[in-house]
Amino acid sequence: MGNKFINMNSYHKEQSEALYMVRRFLANISLEERQQLQLDIADHLKFREEAASFLSSCFSEVCTQKCYQSRLSACCSREGIITFFADVVVNALMSQDREIDLLLEVLKKPNNRFKCIYLGEKGCLWRLKPIICEMFLCEHSKKEVFSENPQLEHKWEELKQHEKLYTWPDRRVVFDTLESCFIEAGYSSPLMYMHNSPGLLRVKRRALSCAASCKGGD
Ligand code: SF4
Ligand code: SF4
Repeated sequence: MGNKFINMNSYHKEQSEALYMVRRFLANISLEERQQLQLDIADHLKFREEAASFLSSCFSEVCTQKCYQSRLSACCSREGIITFFADVVVNALMSQDREIDLLLEVLKKPNNRFKCIYLGEKGCLWRLKPIICEMFLCEHSKKEVFSENPQLEHKWEELKQHEKLYTWPDRRVVFDTLESCFIEAGYSSPLMYMHNSPGLLRVKRRALSCAASCKGGD
């Protein structure tokens, strides 16, 4: 799963700043603007429900045996999990204020465990976990489940492709437009990977030049 090799204080700082930014932005927009944002993410939320339901019905048994019983889940045992800025926005749109307060609270403390800072006693503290976490399956679990039922592997590949419709900027994707919306309002965050990751910027440039050459060939 994504792991960010930076010192944890700066990780905590980036995460808290993004949370405060999103909270400030949401507090200052009109009800109509908030409703528009809800509409913008509706498709993504449907996809997340579909992915969560697939994972819960097909993987809960193997995950329970391998990790939850032994409390050694590799899924949440990393520090500095990568979160997109849009993950923070989507989660905030779905959360109560006290849930965001809780995230800000844990980010004030040093992380002395070999676990994600957001892992609470009852699981992830995000109402809707970051997409990187949602779409992660370890090799062990995939081998166990897919060797028994190759059709499920096909379904998983479909879901991975579907994920790209929200996060892979070779077209207009909601993770990019959400960032743009905040940038236009004067906000900036290192978590805005759609606007500052060299790899993702290359994807956008390639898509643009491809579209331009297709148009030229018309
Ligand atoms: S995906 Fe793998 S590491 Fe994660 S909970 Fe399941 S078995 Fe454990
Ligand atoms: S953010 Fe949540 S789901 Fe992701 S690694 Fe941390 S505790 Fe686990």
